[in-house]
Amino acid sequence: MSRNCVFVYSEQFLQYKFHDDHPFNQLRVKLTYDLLRTLGALDDRHIVTPRMATDDELALIHDRSYIEAVKAAGRGGLSEAAALNYGLGTEDTPVFPNMHEASALLVGSTLTAVDAVLSGAAEHALNLGGGLHHGFRGKASGFCVYNDSAVAIQYIREKYGLRVLYVDTDAHHGDGVQWAFYDDPNVCTFSIHETGRYLFPGTGNVNERGHGAGYGYSFNIPLDAFTEDESWLYAYTTALREIADFFRPDVIVTQNGVDAHYYDPLTHLSVTMKTYRIIPKLAHQIAHEYCNGRWIAVGGGGYDIWRVVPRAWALLWLEMTGQADVSGPLPDDWRQRWQPLSPVTLPLEWDDPDNLYPPIPRKAEISEKNAQTVEKALYFIRSQRRAGT
Ligand SMILES: [Zn+2]
Repeated sequence: MSRNCVFVYSEQFLQYKFHDDHPFNQLRVKLTYDLLRTLGALDDRHIVTPRMATDDELALIHDRSYIEAVKAAGRGGLSEAAALNYGLGTEDTPVFPNMHEASALLVGSTLTAVDAVLSGAAEHALNLGGGLHHGFRGKASGFCVYNDSAVAIQYIREKYGLRVLYVDTDAHHGDGVQWAFYDDPNVCTFSIHETGRYLFPGTGNVNERGHGAGYGYSFNIPLDAFTEDESWLYAYTTALREIADFFRPDVIVTQNGVDAHYYDPLTHLSVTMKTYRIIPKLAHQIAHEYCNGRWIAVGGGGYDIWRVVPRAWALLWLEMTGQADVSGPLPDDWRQRWQPLSPVTLPLEWDDPDNLYPPIPRKAEISEKNAQTVEKALYFIRSQRRAGT
C-alpha cells in the first residue's frame, strides 16, 4: 500500500538532552532505529537527514523574544530569573548547552517530514525526534522547548494551504498544539490522554472545544487513571472515525507519545502493546480514506525507553511502511547489544504477556466512565449530524 516512506533521523537528536537523570531521553530514538535496522525493516533509501528550523520558521508559532531567550540560555547568557520568565530552568525543563540548536533541529526534522510528504516525494513520513506538544508561544513547558508539531501545522497552513487534523495519543494532554490553533477552524485537534486531575498539564477537559471560529474543532478525551486497552481503544477508534468524518482533513499529523503504557513511570494508564499496534493502523486508514495518504507522524512522550518505546515506535514504522506484521521474539542481536546498558530486563517478545499486571478491580466502572466521556466529546458532532438528517 505504502510505496515510499521517509524516516527522518540523525544522531544529533541525542543533543536534545537536559541531564543524565532527566526522564526525557532521546536514546529511545536510537534504540528504535537500531531495532528496525536489525530487523531489516529500515533501509538507507528511507532515511532522510533533517535540517534545523530557521528563526522565521520557529516564529510561525513562537515569539521572537522567546527564541532569543532560548539562544541566550543555551550559551549561558541568561540570568536564572529571566530564564524562568520563559519557563526555562525549571525542574521539568532545565537549561542545557546549545539548547536552541538542539531544539530547532527537532522542529526542522518535522518540517523535513512535512515537505517530504507534501512535495509528493513520499507518501508518509516519520520523525520520532519530534512530538514536543507542550511548547508554548513564549514559554517552555513539560520537557518541551519549541513545539515542532505546532510550527509544522502552521507551516502546512501557510505553505500548502491544507486543512490539518492533529491526533495526539500521548498520555499527557497536547496543550501547546491545542492552544496554538484554538480559534482556527482549519486545524482540528484531537487529544486522548489521562485525565488532568492528577497529571500534568492539568488541561484537556472534554469541554475544551475551541473558541470563536474554531469552536467545535478541538476535541479532548480525558480518560480515567488505570484505563486498559479495550476501553482506551474504544475511545480512540470511535472518536477518530467520527472526527475524521466530520472534519474531512487534507492531511493528518499524528503525535505518537507512548507513555500510556502500563510500564511508563510518569503516568497511570494501563495500556499494552496491543494499543500500540492499533493506533497507527487506524491513523494509516484515515490517511488513505481522507487525505490521499498524506500522513506525517512524530514521536512524543515515552519514559520507559527500554521496554516500551522501541517496540511501540518500531510497530508504528512497520505499519506506516505496510510491512508484514511482526510478532514473537525480538531480534536476539538487538537484545544482546543493549541489555548491558539497560537497568531493566529487555522484553523477549514484541507483544506483552496477557498477565502483564494484576487485574484492575474498578475496570467496569472505569470503562463506563470513559464511554460517557466519549459521548460528551462527540456530542457536538452527533447533534449536528442529527440536525442535518
Ligand atoms: Zn506524555
